[in-house]
Amino acid sequence: MPVRIRKEVVRIQREFLWGGVRGGKKVSWIKWSVVCKAKSKGGLGVRDVSLVNLSLLAKWRWRLLLPGRALWKDVLVAKYGDHIIHNVDWSGFRTPSSGSNWWKDICSLDSVLESKNWLVESVARKLGNGLSTSFWLTKWIGDAPLSVLFPRLFSLSNFRDSTVGDLCICHGDAWTWSFSWRRALFQWEEALVVLLRELLAPVTLSLEVEDKWSWVPDPDGVFSVKSAYNLLVEELWIEDDLDEDVAVIFDHIWESPAPSKVIAFSWQLLYDRIPTRSNLDVRGIFVSDAPWECVGCVGRVETSIHLFLHCPSAMMVWYDIFRWLGVVIVIPHSLFSLFEVLRGSARNAKVRQGFLLIWHATLWSIWKARNSSIFANGSFSPKEIVDEIKEVSWKWSLDRLKVAPSLFYEWTWDPGECLLR
Ligand SMILES: [Zn+2]
Repeated sequence: MPVRIRKEVVRIQREFLWGGVRGGKKVSWIKWSVVCKAKSKGGLGVRDVSLVNLSLLAKWRWRLLLPGRALWKDVLVAKYGDHIIHNVDWSGFRTPSSGSNWWKDICSLDSVLESKNWLVESVARKLGNGLSTSFWLTKWIGDAPLSVLFPRLFSLSNFRDSTVGDLCICHGDAWTWSFSWRRALFQWEEALVVLLRELLAPVTLSLEVEDKWSWVPDPDGVFSVKSAYNLLVEELWIEDDLDEDVAVIFDHIWESPAPSKVIAFSWQLLYDRIPTRSNLDVRGIFVSDAPWECVGCVGRVETSIHLFLHCPSAMMVWYDIFRWLGVVIVIPHSLFSLFEVLRGSARNAKVRQGFLLIWHATLWSIWKARNSSIFANGSFSPKEIVDEIKEVSWKWSLDRLKVAPSLFYEWTWDPGECLLR
């Protein structure tokens, strides 16, 4: 795919995400590579088009690897040579300058990652009868082909084209290896043969099964665009990986039936990438008519952690909410910990879903009240926020929770009881 087109598509995706969701200024609040991670890894699971493109191209390589001839394969072999068929590693071959862009992209897949040839590492040879696997030239045991691991022995072998099945012979229950050398071996070469035999000792063949290729990233061993995509994301964007315990929380926030725009807001907040006064300052976006200080108290700068957790008003909201849920807590130092405390205090999975719904509703309602206070002369009153949380969480629970519906007054009385129905 031409770089220009990829950039354009990504631009449209980003504008949709940051413009469509939030309105107003189009700030890309979170790195695109993070947005594209799976939800379980702290992303939004948005597909990056260039990596999708590479994964689709890799599928062609997989199909060229599989046995069987087809007209399209014959055409490509006639045009580009027979090294492209049944061969994983193309890194040693020159990309033809006359090839189409599609073909050049396919040829350059080997070098997508700087650190390794990901295609070679993603494919493994699964031995059956050993009859279609080259003993010396295919990587089927160890980290490289045996011709690379044992170059001396390879050069001395009488049968360099042998298959595994040719050399491995069954005697009763045992498998033995028969080699043939061009001359008598020196002692140090005999030592190499001992090493080679040790490596081969665990090998057994299944005579009724054909050898085949297996796609390592997929549990079923069959190539899938999705598994190739996930592999590329992991390899290319490894520096954006979260700590395990943080990633777990990002994974859990989606386990709530809150509306996805609400969860996406919580997600953005956990990264501390929402347009608080302090975050706008950091990015040099000055909103002159907005007060610099927190709407919930006097004289404090509006940071995310203050507005949502440590502001006296926010604390009143949380204490009210926890009292309502029947959970006793001390306000922790972070929203992550608060999330864990709440999640851990639910009696079962249904209640947990409901509690997480209320956690999202609380963040959402605080933010709404804050915006209405700044932009629409609304008030930022803990009591009103708590009422709002009870109301929206009740509405969401009716729409989305898989429990028997409750009346509003039942919900405001004891949500834990309603969630157990
Ligand atoms: Zn405050």
